[in-house]
Formats: sequence, C-alpha cells, structure tokens
Amino acid sequence: MKVGVYAVRTGTHWSWHYTVHEQTACQYWFEHYAADAGLVVFEPFVSLGQGVRVLAALRRGVEVAPPGEAAAGWLLEQLQAAAAACGLPAGPFAARWVSYASWRRASSAGLDAGTYRCLVEAYSGRSLLQEELHQCLAAQGLVLEAGREEPTWLAYLELAQLHGDVELTPGLGARSERDWRRGFRRSLRYRCKRCGSGSDRLFWSWCASCGEDCPYCEACLTMGRVRSCSLLVRGVAAGGAASLEAADGDFSAYLGPWGLSEAQTAASLEGLRYLASSRVCVDRGREVAARRFLIWAVTGAGKTEMIFPFIQYIAAQGGRVLIATPRKDVVLELQPRISRAFEEYQVVTLYGGSEERWEQGVITIATTHQLMRFYQAFDLVIIDEIDAFPYHNNPMLGFAADQVCKPDGMTILLSATPPPAVRKAVARGRLAHVRVPVRFHRHPLPLPRFIQTPSLRKMVGAQRISRSLLVLVQQSVERGAQVFIFVPNIQLVEPVVGLLRREVSVRVEGTSSQDDLRTDKVQAFRKRDIRVLVTTTILERGVTVPKSDVFILDADSGLFDDAALVQMAGRAGRSKEDPAGRVVFAAAEVTRSQKEALHQIRTMNRIARKRGFLKEDAK
Ligand SMILES: [Zn+2]
Ligand SMILES: [Zn+2]
Repeated sequence: MKVGVYAVRTGTHWSWHYTVHEQTACQYWFEHYAADAGLVVFEPFVSLGQGVRVLAALRRGVEVAPPGEAAAGWLLEQLQAAAAACGLPAGPFAARWVSYASWRRASSAGLDAGTYRCLVEAYSGRSLLQEELHQCLAAQGLVLEAGREEPTWLAYLELAQLHGDVELTPGLGARSERDWRRGFRRSLRYRCKRCGSGSDRLFWSWCASCGEDCPYCEACLTMGRVRSCSLLVRGVAAGGAASLEAADGDFSAYLGPWGLSEAQTAASLEGLRYLASSRVCVDRGREVAARRFLIWAVTGAGKTEMIFPFIQYIAAQGGRVLIATPRKDVVLELQPRISRAFEEYQVVTLYGGSEERWEQGVITIATTHQLMRFYQAFDLVIIDEIDAFPYHNNPMLGFAADQVCKPDGMTILLSATPPPAVRKAVARGRLAHVRVPVRFHRHPLPLPRFIQTPSLRKMVGAQRISRSLLVLVQQSVERGAQVFIFVPNIQLVEPVVGLLRREVSVRVEGTSSQDDLRTDKVQAFRKRDIRVLVTTTILERGVTVPKSDVFILDADSGLFDDAALVQMAGRAGRSKEDPAGRVVFAAAEVTRSQKEALHQIRTMNRIARKRGFLKEDAK
C-alpha cells in the first residue's frame, strides 16, 4: 500500500499525516476549516511502512512553519531531513501547495452516506488485510470497484480514517530502539500487530512497494501475509454494553434458567459479581487493573452451562460475546447448544473454512486463529482450555486474545489445569478466580493409585507385561469398564497393544494422532466394541466415555506434566452411573509431576468436601 505524506495547517498550527486518497483528505480539511486550512502534499508517495516511519521522525520536531506559501519549502526541508534520518530510499521529494481557492475550482466526487455507514458497520471491531476488506464488503453486498477509474474504496477508507471510524495502520508496528550490540545506534524493531510476534518470527524479502527489503510475519502466514507496508484496517467498535441492570447484586434472573448445580451456581455468581464490579469501575472512569477472571473447574464440572449466565448478562445489555476454543470440533459441538439456549440472538461460528466468516453476531464461537481478524470487538471474551494447544507455550494466541477484547471489556479463562504461571498469579492474588472443585454428579474425583512397574521399554523388550499391572487391567475389564491406556509416545502404542492382546480376552486397539481411523476407533470404544484403547495424550481431553478406567503407563515420563496427568485421570468416573472410576499411575519411579497431580486432585476434593458440595455429605 502506498501513501502520500502531507502536512496540514489548521489556523497557525501544522501537523503531519498520511493519506491513501489525497482528494478525500483535501475535501475533509477544507470542509472543516475552509480558508483557514492549507495543505502541502509531498510526492512521490511512499509505502505505508515508510510513511509511518517518517511521520514518527517528523512528529518529534517542531510544527511552527513560516507564514504563507513559504511554509511549503520549509516543510519540504523537514521531510527530506527526516527521510534521510530514516534511511528511506524514496525521494527527493517535491512539495505541492494546495490552497482553499485552488481546491474550490477542482470538482470533487461526493461519497454516498449510506455506503459509508454500511462500510463502517462491516469493519466495526475487525482487523482486516487489504484482500479481506473486499471480501468483507462483498458479503454485505457492497462492491466499490465496478465501473470506476478512481479507487473509490480508498476514498471511503480515507474518510473513515479522518472521522476516526477506522484506523489505517501497517501490519507490523515499528519502534526505534538503541541497540547496545551496535554501539547504541538506533535501530527499528518490528512486531506483528495481528499476532504479536517479534523479530524472531519475521523474515525480510524484497518488496516492490517499499523499493527495498521489508519484513513480513511468518508466524501468522496461514492467515494471510502481513508486511511492514501491508495495510491493516482496524474498525472502531460501536459503544459497549450499556447500563448495569444488576449492579445491586441480584443476579437470580441470570442464574435461574440454566438448571445449574449448587457448585456451578456459586461459581457463576462469583463471575457475574466480578463482571458487574469491573464494569462499574470503568463507568467511574478509573483504570481497571485486572479484567481477567479464571474459572478453575475440575474435569467433568460442566463448564459450558457455567458460562451461560455470563453470555445472557452481556447480551441482555447489548454487548457482544466471543467464545474462543482451541479446536474446531468443540466449535461445532458448542454451536447447537448455544443457539438453543440463546434463540433470540445471532450466533456466528468461525473456523478455517467456515461459511459465516463475515457475519457479525451477538455471540461468536471461534477457533483461536480466527481471533486475528478482530480488534477490540467484544465486551466479553471467554477462552476455553487456556492450557491446551494452541495456547500452551504459544504467546501469539494469548496476544490475539487480548487484542479482541474491548478496553473496558473482560476476559473469562476456563481451565481444569491452569499452567504454572496462571497458578502463580492466583496464589499471589493477582488473578481473580473461582474454583469449581466438584463434578456435576457431586462425587469426588477418583484418586490415582501408584503402582511400581518396569519401564515400558523393558516390558516391550522382554515381551512381558508386569503382573501387578495386568491384574488391575483384568479387574477393570471384568467389572465391565472401558479401559483407557495412555503411553507417552506413538512408537509405544502398537507394541503395548501386542502385549495386551496376548493377555486379555476382549478387543484391544491402539490409536494416535497419526491414525486415520482414530474417529472410528473412538466411536467403537464408546459403543463398547473396543474395550481397551491404547493411546497417547491426543485423547487426554474432550473424549468422555461412561464407565471408564484410566491407566497411565510410564507415568514418570518427562512427556507427562502434571496437567497432562490430571487431564488423563479426568477421563475416569465421568458418568453419574459410575462416578468412582479407577485411575492407575504405573511407573518405575514416582516423579514430581505425579505427586503434583495427586496433590491437585486431593486439594479439589478437600475443597469440595469443605464447602459441602459432595453427595456423601448431603443430608
Ligand atoms: Zn514493503
Ligand atoms: Zn503475525
């Protein structure tokens, strides 16, 4: 994208800007300031990235120019100096003075107010690359290119920028920093504005628009290439959720309709109170320090129902809600449940290849990558499974999640196993949170039993399975349970299947991320055609099978952290009919992760008991 750098005088004061459509910019300033305005436009146009760079250098300077048209020459000198300081290859520049009188003589094409409103609405809360701008408009039935020589869409964009309805920004932000490794010389550091990636994920290549090498972001390349000179349009979202209905603390209207358990109600109520209180702070014009709220809910707690009150609360006040989840299958699973619960609101689902890509809904359910197409769009952002792929160790999606929330909005994080950094924030009181220590069926979580076995490598090498392990597996089969057997890596799946097939009389199968038949096998396991399923952590989440027992072999493997162990253990005892499933950690050693997992499970049970949530305590 090319932009024209120009200076405008309003009264006696000069300021620097860049424009994507000069005629529209002139019209705007003269309409607002008439003969009080004067413009100096500089040619040639430069790339957007260069325009922003040179403007940053110019804004550090003074803005009092000589009076009259002599200003043009003086401003030109300023620009040449700034361009040289930035190392811009463009230039030398020429200045062109545009006066009110000369502008009045030129005819100008007016823009259509209806089209403008439609465009601003379509872009509201979005973060779009140039090619996406047109797709987004086309979805609204707007085509701005047909039959015109002048690129009209740029005129509309320019006007929207001047009105403050959109922000026209380069895809990569640049900051000038002194680098001690280069003798404290100033150098530019780029950062991707969509995914937050820094120089380690940026690549440099020749760019025709810049006339020099310019960087692009490799981290979010699957969502379109974003260069330092790419146009990124951020639409300013309409005002957020309005008044506070339930600030007095009566939330029964939001908690009532969903058939929540006692523990779920308690958690949702605390979340609602936080939601209301943090909005109150904003209303009083104070900075809100913490707008995040963690719901730390055990596996099988029924977290989807717990978020219904929040959705209802925000939607009822005219706000917009985003539910972000790591996997597409979860989006597809949530969609009918949310749609049924909130018939009166439009629900939009977004994932790679989704048909509703350009719809604006009150409730949006999206996979995490889709977040990059939004900017400060939502009053409430609910992030499911914050510790799961792709958030885990992926700062990029955490960045995107922060970007999509309105400045006065709030983020609710859901997790059964929050990562250490989040747990630390909780322990230090830096993150508001609530624990849901009990499953919906109100039975305690099964405690893992530790048994000592040789390592899998030894068992496979000797072609003999440990007796103590085999006895327990056989007991599980005999009691009619479905048996999950977790191993640390794919290479161990088939050998373990082989060992077990020789010893147990029921059908044993194995599956992993590389298995094309995985969905079919999981289906057969649910239907009890397969009784023992050997797998990797690929099935640690999301797969819930009634009456299951869980065996984790090589539980001392470095590949199993405490979160993975808790998640795998969480497959057991999920149904009301068989709430006390069996969990076995089989390993040569007991590691810290195993102890930590046991500690977390015990702690949740203890809290549940103390708060009277467990069935055994019920009168
Ligand atoms: Zn470029
Ligand atoms: Zn990026």
